[in-house]
Amino acid sequence: MNEDPRYQFDTLAIRAGQERSQYGEHSEALYLTSSFVFPSAAQAAALFAGEVEGYTYSRFTNPTVTLFQDRLAALEGAEACIATASGMSAILATALALLQSGDHVVAARGIFGASQALFGTLLPKFGVTTTFVPGCDPESFRKAIQPHTKLVFIETPSNPLTEVHDMAALADMAHAVGALLVVDNCFCTPALQRPLEFGADLVIHSATKHLDGQGRVMGGAVCGAKAPIEEVFKFMRTAGPSLSPFNAWVLVKGLETLKLRMQAHSANALELARRLESHPAIERIFYPGLPSHPQHALAQRQQSAGGAIVSFEVKGGRAAAWRVVDNCKLLSITSNLGDVKTTITHPGTTTHGRVTPEARAEAGITEGLVRIAVGLEAIDDIEADLLRGLGPR
Ligand SMILES: *Cc1c(COP(=O)(O)O)cnc(C)c1O
Repeated sequence: MNEDPRYQFDTLAIRAGQERSQYGEHSEALYLTSSFVFPSAAQAAALFAGEVEGYTYSRFTNPTVTLFQDRLAALEGAEACIATASGMSAILATALALLQSGDHVVAARGIFGASQALFGTLLPKFGVTTTFVPGCDPESFRKAIQPHTKLVFIETPSNPLTEVHDMAALADMAHAVGALLVVDNCFCTPALQRPLEFGADLVIHSATKHLDGQGRVMGGAVCGAKAPIEEVFKFMRTAGPSLSPFNAWVLVKGLETLKLRMQAHSANALELARRLESHPAIERIFYPGLPSHPQHALAQRQQSAGGAIVSFEVKGGRAAAWRVVDNCKLLSITSNLGDVKTTITHPGTTTHGRVTPEARAEAGITEGLVRIAVGLEAIDDIEADLLRGLGPR
């Protein structure tokens, strides 16, 4: 079974892409090998020339990595997928494969800190410029898009403020100038949202987060139509930020429980957001599942649930935010997210610490902002840990 389109999401998450070896193993095999042997010199030549299909070297492809790619592509409803060593290398590979000197990118200002650095600092060295657009009003994006714009890059919901972008509107604007809409689907995963259905051209994943789901391995992926993914593959086999087969195997196992986990994360996060929304020490709370979220209606159209991330601004700036963080005994103080263990982060001094103060202000990341990646512990225990620093409700 693999590409049968009649199978539903839950089935594909558990079965798609598996090809059993001669031993008939039930669980997916791990091919922990860097290279593959050839029956003859002529066979090796044919493989390297691309005349026959097969495996040569794990920088190019590996059966366990292929399995992860095929399964994730099935879940995103994509023709093809390329796995990478991390989420950032997925974004880098996409940019370097599809852009050249003189090209222009439009990116949301409210994206992950390292993604801002990649577009804002690294790519200009190679002649690629980026206009950052604050907020998520499609009209602001329309104004920023130029005739030479080649990529429009967003996260929806965004990290850490959970801004929700109208993917169909942005796809139309991008396509009008021949650009591609690239969506980092890290916060929702295909279990809650499938960007290609809304017109996006490429979907990026930090597989490190929810696809693994238990904070074990780094990984990334790019999903989309065959033609652009082929370009990303050519970059990957030459440049080499490939996914380890071991990590691919862990990620395949993560995909099997993805939907159940995402639904449970979302239920816990919504309950936490509801409980904290009227807390006297909290200025504002950001969660797409709350009716008070500015893009709640849009989120309901695009996502089947709100996801795991709840951010809030504590009254009293950095000192008050750090008090909440430092009073946690259960929650892990770490910058990772998408784990069954709840994590707490002060974005202004960690994930977005390298972003300039001006860009941080423009993105709305204040000193009082705290980001919770809600895990699967009991909601009462998660809440009690936060109330230690926030004070009673
Ligand atoms: C973590 C993250 C990334 C980067 O992924 P890595 O696997 O850490 O390289 C990209 N986008 C978002 C939204 C993230 O949260």
